[in-house]
Amino acid sequence: MNKQDYDIIVMGGGLAGCSSAIQLRSQGQRVLLLEQQRYPVHKLCGEFLSVEVISSFARLGILEAVRKAGAHPITRTYLTTSNGASLESELPGVGLGLSRYQLDLLLFQRAQELGADCLDGTKVNSVSGGLQQGFMVNTSQGNFSSRLVLGCHGKRSTLDLSRPFTGQYNPFVAFKGHYTGIALPGVIELHAFPGGYCGLSQIETGEINLCWIAHEKILNCKNSTLPDPLWQNPVLAARLHSMQCVRKSQHRLSQISFALKGKFDADVCMIGDSAGMITPFCGDGMAMALQSAEMAIPLVTGFLQGNLSERDLKRQYTSIWNREFRTRLQIGRLLHASFINAGIANLGVSLCDTFPALARGFIQATRGRDHGANLATSDI
Ligand SMILES: Cc1cc2nc3c(=O)[nH]c(=O)nc-3n(C[C@H](O)[C@H](O)[C@H](O)COP(=O)(O)OP(=O)(O)OC[C@H]3O[C@@H](n4cnc5c(N)ncnc54)[C@H](O)[C@@H]3O)c2cc1C
Repeated sequence: MNKQDYDIIVMGGGLAGCSSAIQLRSQGQRVLLLEQQRYPVHKLCGEFLSVEVISSFARLGILEAVRKAGAHPITRTYLTTSNGASLESELPGVGLGLSRYQLDLLLFQRAQELGADCLDGTKVNSVSGGLQQGFMVNTSQGNFSSRLVLGCHGKRSTLDLSRPFTGQYNPFVAFKGHYTGIALPGVIELHAFPGGYCGLSQIETGEINLCWIAHEKILNCKNSTLPDPLWQNPVLAARLHSMQCVRKSQHRLSQISFALKGKFDADVCMIGDSAGMITPFCGDGMAMALQSAEMAIPLVTGFLQGNLSERDLKRQYTSIWNREFRTRLQIGRLLHASFINAGIANLGVSLCDTFPALARGFIQATRGRDHGANLATSDI
C-alpha cells in the first residue's frame, strides 16, 4: 500500500466527528477532520444535552471549557399538550443547555489542540477506494488520501445520495431559533401541538432556544417560523407572546429521516446520525453521537494496528451499535409518533402524571446506562 496522507479522514465536524478525531489523536493517529461549514455556526438542534454527556465531556477534555462557557444546568422537565394536560418530572441527573454555536466550536478547537489537521469551510464531494487499498477523499480544498474514512456527516448530506433512506418519504420539517423575553431556569420544556412538538430551554447566553419539529402537512400557513398549530397549545402560546427572535440564529430543515441506516457504506464507517438518528423527543441524539464514537474508535484503532480484520471490524461495530441503540431508536419513534397525535399525547401525559413510574420507564428505555447521576448542579 502507498504511503497515505493520513491514517484517518473524518468527514463532518459535529459531535461524532470531533469526538472521533479527539480520541484518535489521543492515540497518536494522523487525523484529518473536514467540516463543510465555517465555525462558529448556528445549527438546527434543541441544544439540550442529556445527563449522559457530562462524563463524555470529561473524557474528551472539554468539561472545564463547557463550564466556563456558562452551560445552563437543567434538572427538570415540563411537558404540556394542546388539550391542557401537563407533567413535571425530575431528570435523573443534571442536563445542560448549551448552543451548538458554542459546543461544536469547543470540540473542533479541542481536536485542533491535540494535533488533528482541522479544516472547516471544506466540503467533502466524494470518496473512492476501500479498506483494503485505502481511500481517496475529494474535497473543495483538493484530494487527500487515508487508510480509513469515518462518515460523521450527520442526519442528511450530499454524501448520502446513494443511500436507500434518501429515496424514502421523510415528511418531517424542523426549525430552531434563539429568543429573548422569557427565562426558564433549570427546566427543559416540551409542548405538544397537533402534528408536532416544540422544545424550549435556556442556553449559556440566557436566551431561550426554541426548536420545533412537525409533519409537513400542518405547515400550510404563512408563518414558517412559528406556524399556527404551535399557538393551539395554551402554555406554549403564552410563552410565544413574550418572546422575540434573535437575528441570524434561525435554521430550518426538511426531509428529516429517523430510518435505520447502514453502519458501513462502501467501506466508510458511519458514526452519529449518519448511522441512525433518535427522534428529538428523547433529547438524546448528541449523547448517542458521542457514545457511538466511543464504541467505534477502539475497533477502528484495532483495524489500523492490524489486530482486527475488515470483516471483524464491520461485524463487531454493527453488532454493538444494534445492541446499544436499535431498540432505543424504535422506542423513540413510537414516543415521537404518539406525542404528535393530539389525542394520544393528552392521554399519555395524563397517564404519566398519574403513574410517575411510567414516565421514568420511558426515560430509561431511551437512554444509555451512564446517567451521570452523581453530578450535582454545583458541579457544573
Ligand atoms: C429538530 C431536532 C432537534 C434536536 N434536538 C436535540 C436535543 O435537544 N438534544 C440532543 O441531544 N439531540 C438533539 N437532536 C439530535 C442531534 O442534533 C444529533 O443527534 C447530533 O447533532 C448528531 O451529531 P452528529 O455529529 O452525528 O451530526 P451533526 O452534529 O449534524 O454533524 C454533522 C456535520 O457534518 C457536516 N457535513 C455534512 N456533510 C458534509 C460534507 N459533505 N463535507 C463536510 N462536512 C459535512 C455538517 O456540516 C455537520 O457539521 C435534535 C435533532 C433534530 C432534528
